[in-house]
Amino acid sequence: MAARVKQIKRRGRTFLEQLYLIEVIKGMGVTITHFLRNLRDNRNLYVRDYPEVKPEITSRWRGRHRLTLHPDGTVKCVACFMCQTNCPSECIMIEATERLDGVAEKMPARFTIDLLECIYCGYCVEACPMDAIRMDTGIFSVTGTSREDMVLELEDLLATPGGFAEHEQEDR
Ligand code: SF4
Ligand code: SF4
Repeated sequence: MAARVKQIKRRGRTFLEQLYLIEVIKGMGVTITHFLRNLRDNRNLYVRDYPEVKPEITSRWRGRHRLTLHPDGTVKCVACFMCQTNCPSECIMIEATERLDGVAEKMPARFTIDLLECIYCGYCVEACPMDAIRMDTGIFSVTGTSREDMVLELEDLLATPGGFAEHEQEDR
């Protein structure tokens, strides 16, 4: 059975529509209405006085990364490269070294995350078999004055504590 095709005739724009004048006036009307309303009473404004008022961050929210430690303070990461392999932005770079404390065969000698390339997808956290990398620091404001400032090094990652009490009890 042949498909029934409904032909829609293109109407084109009228002269007034081509001027965009009416649409601009309508848009300005909406803007001015909001402006006057908020001038009279700003209690319902959908804005915060940031940074004085911080946003509520839940423990499931993906913030800046950290590397976790065993309760005895040793590094959990075994330099398996799963996070680096799964990172869609290719912003994780790990250099492994032999581990001599008997906890595992390897550990990271260098572990960097370039936050300028990271898309905060959380795949690195999902891929880690050791629960060694997390994004539960609660750090939402990541700033720097140079590209180098935006690259997290192993020391930064290990020194950053978890941002939520329930995780603090599990490990560090
Ligand atoms: S959050 Fe995503 S993009 Fe960022 S380091 Fe992890 S895997 Fe890569
Ligand atoms: S953080 Fe996890 S996935 Fe990444 S290298 Fe270390 S152990 Fe492997």
